[in-house]
Amino acid sequence: MSANLFDILSRSITDAAATAIETLAGDRITYADLVVRTGQMANALVGLGVKPGDRVAVQVEKSVEAIILYLATVRAGAVFLPLNTAYTVAEVAYFIGDAEPALFVCDPARVADFAAIADKTGARLVTLDANGKGSLSDAAVTARPDFATVPRNADDLAALLYTSGTTGRSKGAMLTHGNLVSNALTLCEAWRFNKADVLIHALPIFHTHGLFVATNVTLLSGASMVLLPKFDAGLILDLMARATVLMGVPTYYVRLLESARLDSAATARMRLFISGSAPLLAETHREWQARTGQAILERYGMTETNMNTSNPYEGDRVAGTVGLPLPGTEVIVTDPDNGAPLAQGEIGMIEVRGPNVFKGYWRMPEKTAAELRANGFFITGDLGRIDDNGYVHIVGRAKDLIITGGYNVYPKEVEAEIDDIAGVLESAVIGLPHKDFGEAVTAIVVPSGQPVLTEADIVVAIEGRLARFKRPSRVIFVDELPRNTMGKVQKNVLRDRFAGSV
Ligand code: AMP
Repeated sequence: MSANLFDILSRSITDAAATAIETLAGDRITYADLVVRTGQMANALVGLGVKPGDRVAVQVEKSVEAIILYLATVRAGAVFLPLNTAYTVAEVAYFIGDAEPALFVCDPARVADFAAIADKTGARLVTLDANGKGSLSDAAVTARPDFATVPRNADDLAALLYTSGTTGRSKGAMLTHGNLVSNALTLCEAWRFNKADVLIHALPIFHTHGLFVATNVTLLSGASMVLLPKFDAGLILDLMARATVLMGVPTYYVRLLESARLDSAATARMRLFISGSAPLLAETHREWQARTGQAILERYGMTETNMNTSNPYEGDRVAGTVGLPLPGTEVIVTDPDNGAPLAQGEIGMIEVRGPNVFKGYWRMPEKTAAELRANGFFITGDLGRIDDNGYVHIVGRAKDLIITGGYNVYPKEVEAEIDDIAGVLESAVIGLPHKDFGEAVTAIVVPSGQPVLTEADIVVAIEGRLARFKRPSRVIFVDELPRNTMGKVQKNVLRDRFAGSV
């Protein structure tokens, strides 16, 4: 039987008249519509020359049509390659050159930017705008709706997602039908998704979180989603009156907490708040619970592996942890130097294995061999530990580890102490080159305004709380921390900006 994600989705439809996707502009797409419109789009793709295994590169605004394009690409047996809408022409040129797609779908406003790139690589260029209009949708509207979904094996590629690499070349993670289906089914179960659910979908759809976690989980459980073009605290609060689940990055929760409208009455109908893609501060978790009476469920995953761990639906959702390994996924902690397993509780490299783990990096066999072991474990690049209750704690990316005077300093430990000081909104701790220590621990702090703090105040406040080698040798105040679209603090930007300050 075909393992095509779309076949599995269409087999799971029990109520074709139910809403799958709606927008605030009044669009309502039922599951029956989804089958028809992905069929038309798949026929349009084939008409444009897309064959099974071909890549379809897509840099478009979020829209219903963009989701239909994703599903139709998968239906046609092709490989969906979403690109961040913020990518510049030079960045896009690299991805198109590397992936060699048969088709490149872009916003009509950017055709002039990309025509030469498409020409050079032989990709056909078509358009789709934020309202779902363009030469691609024109082709789909007139296409036939019946389309025989191309059978795929679990091992065949469904998507190619480039990692948001901050150093070196971005790598294309090859995700199979089996990866996407297994993870979505696991999450449906773990988070008790069902037909009555209405997801507030505010995440971008060029990233694993909004594209796979949010979309696949909703559709495979027969639930519905309200598609918002982007995060909007006011709209999300309005929607909470009739929705049941929100998936967000930590920044969403921080922004929602700034609204006086957020309280237990506003969230009474919601059954689940999920956070991931970046660390959720324990303080945000606690504040949310105090204001709404609900505990945010934090989970951990990445482009290469889909989701690996989750706090439990029933049971303790422990602030500051990413929860327990999901069923079917193994999580171990190893010595970063030699890969040997470490004793429970020790900090080391997090490695994961399971049907959720990708197939390797596109056309980069050496990188694949370096990060994906022959025994199936993927070396995530995240440092962490597993506590006595089996909960996984992430302490940061290995590349953000600070080595000062020969000692390891895990930034998160220092950040947690600084964040606890009254007058601190948040902080990022980085290592800056230092002639004596190799690296000097440096704290970049965003003050909350009250009380007003000096560098000395911070140093004094943590004096008794951290060993001397962990304490920052400099504290630098900034108005805000640089973040990418998924809410991750860009420590590389801070390291560049403050190099030479210690
Ligand atoms: P991406 O591939 O863009 O999804 O980024 C994956 C990385 O985001 C992981 O390797 C982690 O470093 C980080 N990440 C994702 N979820 C969490 C979380 N809940 N807590 C801390 N870091 C996270």
